[in-house]
Amino acid sequence: MRIFDPHIHMTSRTTDDYQAMYDAGVRAVVEPSFWLGQPRTSPESFFDYFDALLGWEPFRAAQYGIAHHCALALNPKEANDPRCAPVLGALPRYLVKDSVVAVGEIGYDSMTPAEDHALAAQLQLAADHGLPALVHTPHRDKLAGLRRTLDAVRESALPVERVLLDHLNETTVKEAADSGAWLGFSIYPDTKMDEDRMVAVLKDHGADRVLVNSAADWGRSDPLMTRRVGDAMLAAGFDEDQVDQVLWRNPVAFYGLSGRLRLDPPGDVGPLHEGNSILRGGE
Ligand SMILES: [Zn+2]
Repeated sequence: MRIFDPHIHMTSRTTDDYQAMYDAGVRAVVEPSFWLGQPRTSPESFFDYFDALLGWEPFRAAQYGIAHHCALALNPKEANDPRCAPVLGALPRYLVKDSVVAVGEIGYDSMTPAEDHALAAQLQLAADHGLPALVHTPHRDKLAGLRRTLDAVRESALPVERVLLDHLNETTVKEAADSGAWLGFSIYPDTKMDEDRMVAVLKDHGADRVLVNSAADWGRSDPLMTRRVGDAMLAAGFDEDQVDQVLWRNPVAFYGLSGRLRLDPPGDVGPLHEGNSILRGGE
């Protein structure tokens, strides 16, 4: 089983996770930029983070045979902090980098006017840079959040066919599918979607434009959730080609819209990145 996790925050994960992911079949990931839990207090804090997603993290992934790309953006939650707003003006110089395959994650958290502004500005940036967009849908009040998100997309210059709506569930999948957008499902260990609910959604709606991700980060989450969905699909009677469509071909097609995906196994990048190594002690 070959697996592309289209939404995972590896900066929060360990090298053990990279090894376990490789052993489970993960060969490619996209890491969207997000909120780090601790609020940032200046744009420079974002810039160091963006540089890590462009440099250090692809280096770390390559040590484990995994191709790493990223999506960059001002995240919905911190769009509400005026100290972080200047990030929007700096994004163009990051969005031209080779391993950036989308603008994201953008969208609504609390549906404030500041979030309206950041979402509209970043949908325009995606259109200007020929990039698709990874759009997070709110965890509270999901259907209202989805509708407001779709309104913002329709008012933007970015065609809905270049948008991945993420964190969908049974209540939002139909309207999201009818819109023509790509459909993302985050599978968590305790809350929201689990692998059995995901299989039920796939039985109802088919695998067309469906992507499954672990969204693993610093909270309760599991970077092997993609594999668990693949196993649950096989146990429920889906064949290997359908699993490959959901776990590999669909994410390749979506992020391939950027024209920047490179999925050959990472070559030998050497043991050092800017003088630093992942090895510790006695090497
Ligand atoms: Zn995320």
